[in-house]
Amino acid sequence: MVGSRPRIAIVGAGPAGAFAAASLWRMHPDAEVDLFERLPTPWGLLRGGVAPDHQEIKRLDDMFDRETLERGCRLFANVEVGVDISHDELMRHYSAVVYATGAQTDKSLGIPGEDLPGSWAATEFVAWYNGHPDYRELQFDLSPRRAVVIGNGNVAADVTRMLTLSQPELERTDVADHALEALRESRIEEVVVLGRRGPAQVAFTSSELRELGHLDGVELRVDPAEVELDPLSRSWIEDEGTFTVRKNVQLLREFANRRERTDSRRRIVLRFLRSPVEIRGNGRVEAVDVRRNEIVRADDGLLRPRSVDGGIETIDCGLVLRSVGYQAVPLPGVPFDERSFVLPNDRGRVLGPGGDPLAGVYAVGWIKRGPTGILGTNKRDADETVRCLAEDLAAGRLRTPPEPDPDHIEALLAERKSDLVTVEGWRAIDAHERERGSHEQRPRVKLSSLDELLAVAGAAPVPDTGRRSSA
Ligand code: NAP
Repeated sequence: MVGSRPRIAIVGAGPAGAFAAASLWRMHPDAEVDLFERLPTPWGLLRGGVAPDHQEIKRLDDMFDRETLERGCRLFANVEVGVDISHDELMRHYSAVVYATGAQTDKSLGIPGEDLPGSWAATEFVAWYNGHPDYRELQFDLSPRRAVVIGNGNVAADVTRMLTLSQPELERTDVADHALEALRESRIEEVVVLGRRGPAQVAFTSSELRELGHLDGVELRVDPAEVELDPLSRSWIEDEGTFTVRKNVQLLREFANRRERTDSRRRIVLRFLRSPVEIRGNGRVEAVDVRRNEIVRADDGLLRPRSVDGGIETIDCGLVLRSVGYQAVPLPGVPFDERSFVLPNDRGRVLGPGGDPLAGVYAVGWIKRGPTGILGTNKRDADETVRCLAEDLAAGRLRTPPEPDPDHIEALLAERKSDLVTVEGWRAIDAHERERGSHEQRPRVKLSSLDELLAVAGAAPVPDTGRRSSA
């Protein structure tokens, strides 16, 4: 009966949104859940962020599908909340709105030369090679011999692998065709990865770090002097070093003890205690100036980098990928914490300006806790938010929306968006991509232009690109 079941809108169909939908059904089997997504395709960073050579992770899309869309969750894709429909309108149709919009931009370094041609946010490179429609037109010049990656997190590891994998390795993945073509012609021989702190403070997970040392035909170089631990880091590891920290330090020592190779195709050089101070070049990137750091204990108790005298080192390079973290952007109609770049929240309940929970508004994933954790972290995180939502439902804190009929929101969206993509449209895209992939022994061949995606979804006329959909 209309109005008797809790109606939940999840904004953002990435891993956090998918885990939240699955969790909602576990805790509230009678819930009606609708997933809103800005792109014509669901699964967010699983499709557009996870590196193409990590297919074992990408295959989680089948689980997301089983636990959400197959169970009757509706998909409203190619709909931007805040543009095509407002927060207030959603609140008229749903008992609760759960924001799972992630972190859509990158942090900047704030150094001169950051915007020179040839200097990119790693997140742009990631979106480009993963076939995100907003990034497909980017032109990465891969003709220089050396690239510099700034940052020691898993995104830095991903882009470093993508720059060093061999052609046959790339051809087995679902990397976007335009990127495959450009990477085939790449002349990059060396990737230098800069960490501003030491080996004990890298943000890589150990499996990602280990992988960097075991790439086919790729030498990994680490200077033994740079993996020597300073006294502060040594005692910090003894007192509070996690398993991952100890494992990372051990791996880096092993890498530093390796003999230099002369038979490698490409080389990765991990550098530590080095901060970029300027990206230089005449009209485009030609070098990065770096300064040496030492580790100090800051007033907040954390181990931080501090520059030491000793001059500036110049690393010649033609490509810079700045991989220093993602950052969320404010969403229209909901509060935003400008210092932490999240929706202010208590365990997922979004808080109003006075600090009290806003009835029916929740957050999950990176927009709730910041851009941290691996994909699976979002499951626990979603469970926490959904538990709060279930408690609020049980306590009668969520009202029946004024427009509870599920057909009304669908009719409204269809009226506003002639190119609305629903589950059927996504299924057509998915089948089309997998079918094309099966001809090339690849998991899928991605559609990366908005026009093609919409045409295959049946949401828009087939564009005249010379290639015809077979779906
Ligand atoms: P991240 O893990 O937060 O790493 C950011 C790196 O940038 C850190 O090494 C940080 O150093 C460095 N950094 C920050 N500001 C800097 C500056 N001004 N100058 C120089 N270096 C700076 O972020 P991420 O790599 O973007 O990853 C985001 C999240 O996604 C992480 O939780 C990550 O594990 C996850 N992820 C997981 C996978 C996977 O599981 N395979 C793949 C990709 C991403 P400090 O530590 O000194 O701040």
